Order: sequence, then structure tokens, then C-alpha cells
Amino acid sequence: MFNYDAPESLLTGRVILITGAGDGIGRAAALSYAKAGATVILLGRTTEKLEAVYDEIENAGYPQPAMVPLNLDTAGEAAYVEMANMIDSEFGRLDGILHNASLLGQRTPLENYDPITFDQVMRVNVNAGFLLTQALLPLMKQSDDASIIFTSSSVGRKGRAYWGAYAISKFATEGMMQTLADEYSNSGNIRVNCINPGATATNMRSYAYPAEDPSTIASAADIQPVYLYLMGPDSKGITGQSIDAQGDGSPTDFV
Ligand code: NAP
Repeated sequence: MFNYDAPESLLTGRVILITGAGDGIGRAAALSYAKAGATVILLGRTTEKLEAVYDEIENAGYPQPAMVPLNLDTAGEAAYVEMANMIDSEFGRLDGILHNASLLGQRTPLENYDPITFDQVMRVNVNAGFLLTQALLPLMKQSDDASIIFTSSSVGRKGRAYWGAYAISKFATEGMMQTLADEYSNSGNIRVNCINPGATATNMRSYAYPAEDPSTIASAADIQPVYLYLMGPDSKGITGQSIDAQGDGSPTDFV
């Protein structure tokens, strides 16, 4: 596991947006960021799940969160601009984005892959990340210490049979991270990196590996050290890296 002991108030005063915050790894990240003092903005497509995380954060006495119910599959450019305006008027700042929401799509040879599913996976896993980042960059640029984290996968580094659009979308995610990181490499205030969670017990993992016993792999809470490290000030200067949440802490340098 990535080795990092986050100070208690690591993210105090920061405002952080998390996509897919209602479940799985996104939910765990929202809770750990809020516990570390951040005001978290919970984005997801299922309002009841967002409300449950919202209540959990409020009941724990962490900073009051906000919710953005949004379907990344159907949202157009205008919805992201509207969200950026809302964040600006409500909070006046944004210090972090965790791009976490993804669709798994089909597990089938590309020869048989449904083109409609292919499009949907690329829209949610890639296009939405681009549109959301583009709309929020003006706010991120105003932060003293801004961090953008994308979520990759081992199948986004080496293609694997039957992982279809999901694998292709994760290669694109690595590419978007590297491109953006290079564009802001001299900015002094914006870093951009990827996290590869590794096998983690969530709905997506159960769907991909139905025969696996979830108690034999890491939980979403277990893998939080790297999520905290990359979002907080201790990772200042680290950019363009793709880091394994369950690795030994050495970044995989693609340059
Ligand atoms: P998950 O349990 O399926 O959670 C995904 C989250 O994304 C859910 O909250 C889901 O919302 C949300 N989401 C999906 N489509 C959306 C859309 N169109 N609009 C808004 N939100 C949407 O998956 P996970 O395992 O936590 O995965 C989190 C990230 O880690 C993903 O990027 C995944 O590719 C990556 N990853 C996971 C593993 C693993 O072993 N779990 C390994 C490698 C990489 P609903 O709850 O409403 O469905």
C-alpha cells in the first residue's frame, strides 16, 4: 500500500470536487477528504446516494459539504459551466478535482462490442473529464495549490483482451493527464496526476470479478493514503505521474 500518514488537518480550508462521490472509491475519498478538513462537493448521478454521503459527513461534524446531482453521460458543456458558476458564487474557490466516476461497459471482444456502449463509456470516462476540467480550470488557476487527480487502471497502461472501451478510455485518461500536466508544468500552482486504485472491493469490481470474495482485497477506505497525499500540500511539485494506490509509493514515470 502507498505509505503516507496524513496530518489531521491536511485539507483544512480547501474546496474539493469529487465525481462519482455516492459510492465505492469516490464515497471513501469524499469521507477522507472531509475528515481531513476539506469542504467537499459531491457529484454523482444518483441523488439518494449523494444524500447519504452528505448526511454521513454532516453527522460526523466535518465541514458542510455540497451536492451536484449530474449525469456525466448526458451533461453538455453548458451544465459544466453552470456548475463552475455555482462553485464560484457559493465558495469563491476550488482547490482540487478528483475525477473518479467511470463506467465499466461490456467485457467482450472488440469484434462484438456494442457501439452504443462504446460511445457511452467514452463519454463518461473521457469526454466528461475533459469538459469538467475545462469549465473548472479558471477557478483552479486562482488557487495557490491546486491538484487534479484522474483515475486510471492497470488496463489503461497495457491493453487486455475483453476489457474493450474501458481499457481504451483509461489509456485516454492517462493521455489527458499527461497533456494537461505538461501544459501546466510551469504554472507553479497546478499539478495533475493519475491514481491506479488496484483491486478494490466496490460494485464495479464485483461486476468485473463476480466469483471473487471482496473480503480478500483492499477496501475503498484502505487505499485512501495516496488520495490524501496527491490532494494535499505534501505532493506539491509532483505532476504528470501515474501512481499505484497499492504500490510501494514509487511513481511510474511515463516520460
Ligand atoms: P463504482 O463502485 O462503480 O462507483 C463508480 C461511481 O461513479 C458511482 O458512484 C457511480 O454512480 C458513478 N458514476 C457512474 N456513471 C456516472 C455518470 N454517468 N454520471 C455520474 N456519476 C457516475 O466504481 P469504483 O470501483 O468505486 O471505481 C472508481 C474509479 O476507480 C473508476 O474510475 C474505476 O475505473 C477505477 N478503478 C477501480 C478499480 C476497482 O478495483 N474498484 C480498479 C481500477 C480502477 P452510481 O452509484 O449512481 O452508479
